[in-house]
Order: sequence, then C-alpha cells, then structure tokens
Amino acid sequence: MKPKYKRILLKLSGEALKGKKEFGIDPDFLLYLANEIKEIYEIGVEVAIVSGGGNIFRGLAASKQGMDRATGDYMGMLATIFNAMALQEVLERVGVQTRLMTAIKMEQVAEPFIRRRAVRHLEKKRVVILGGGTGLPFITTDTTAAMRALELKCEAVFKATKVSGVYHEDPIKNPEAKKYDYLSFEEAFKDDKIQVIDKAAISLCRDNKIHIVVFNIYEKGALKKAVMGEKVGTTIC
Ligand code: UDP
Repeated sequence: MKPKYKRILLKLSGEALKGKKEFGIDPDFLLYLANEIKEIYEIGVEVAIVSGGGNIFRGLAASKQGMDRATGDYMGMLATIFNAMALQEVLERVGVQTRLMTAIKMEQVAEPFIRRRAVRHLEKKRVVILGGGTGLPFITTDTTAAMRALELKCEAVFKATKVSGVYHEDPIKNPEAKKYDYLSFEEAFKDDKIQVIDKAAISLCRDNKIHIVVFNIYEKGALKKAVMGEKVGTTIC
C-alpha cells in the first residue's frame, strides 16, 4: 500500500518533546518519536519537521514577566534550535538521514534555511529539521509550520499533540468533551475555545487550501496511520 501523502510538514511542539518531564527534553520520549518518524521515512514519505520551543522558553510568557517581547522571542527561537539539534541527533542514531536548517544562522551546527536547498534535501529523502522558527519575533512555530509547508509544497501539516484531536472543549479539563473528526477552517477560525493550533496558521492553510491533521503523537503508530490515509485525530479542511 502506498502512503496517501508524498511530502508532509510535521509540527512537533515543545510539549511533544517534553514527554513525561515538566521541563526540557525527555530522552526516552525523543527516542520513541524518532522511531515513529522512521516508520514513515522508511515508506518513502518526505518529511520536513518544524520544532517548537515551549518546553524551554516562550517569548510571550517572558514578556508577561517584564522582558522585552522581541528579546524573549529571539530566545524562544534559540530554544527551538536546541530541540531541533536533539531531534537530529536521535533521528540519526536510529538510522534516519537528516539535515538541520535554521532561520537564524548557526554556521557551526546547521545550514541556513534556503528554500531550494531544503526542497533538494527532501527530494534526496533526507528528513529536513527546521529550527529557529521564521527568524522573526511575534510569530509562533505553528505559523512557521504553515508557512514552511506552503514554501516546501507539503501536502498537509501534521500537528503532533498530546490529545487525540480537536475537541469542543479542553479534554484534559473536561473528559466529556466531544472530539471532531473533521472541522472546517471557518469553525476552527471562529471558535476561540479551539486553541490547538493558532489562528494565523489556520488562516494561511485556509487561504492556500492545505489541510491540517491534528493527532496524538503519544498513540503509537498514529503518525504512520495518518500518512497512509487512515482516519486519525481531527482533519481541519
Ligand atoms: N518564536 C518566534 N518566532 C518564530 C517562531 C517562534 O519568535 O517564528 C519564539 C516565540 O517566542 C515562541 C518560542 O519561539 O514562544 C517557541 O515557539 P512556540 O511557542 O511556537 O513553541 P511550541 O508551542 O510549539 O512549543
């Protein structure tokens, strides 16, 4: 069976890298993640990954404590590179070929992000890890994921979360919350209770007709099922 998607953008938030830890990176969970990604790499899916940084630093949170927002955001971008490096190391350890590209130059550890080079890496079946967000403050890594998905001509954005999709309320607070199998961009955009992915990302995907699959990365095999076209999580389309 052939996968449904040839090229995808996988968004791994800081939350997803934290695993069972309160803060930082969980090495066991990272290894699990690498093996989940390896499964889709081995069936030939081209994968670009955008790493988040919320497990280490968030500019908005720091600005609420008095820090200049732009400075905080640049620190947040560096946190995403931290995560991206950890991901690269573990992916290579399990035998996945990768390239790390960053939106803020880090010559000693990564290539600068150049769209055409990133596409070439994908064509050569290297997993491209994108660190540093967009390189600009006041933007999130969800929005980065949508932008890079469009630039790199990915067929969908896969947003890995710790819940099984989009719910009408937070399922952690309300276990009775109803899960959507499908959600329209309009509904996702209008409903302020839906916070699983930010509005700017939704609006970019809506305007450019690329759908978003929100799925639970803690469910083993869910990523592969989703790229094979099985119904997993919530599709925003
Ligand atoms: N960030 C930024 N510009 C970008 C991407 C990220 O300034 O293009 C900063 C921002 O401060 C953000 C932090 O990096 O809070 C970490 O990213 P995010 O909060 O999106 O990570 P996640 O929630 O996915 O862990």
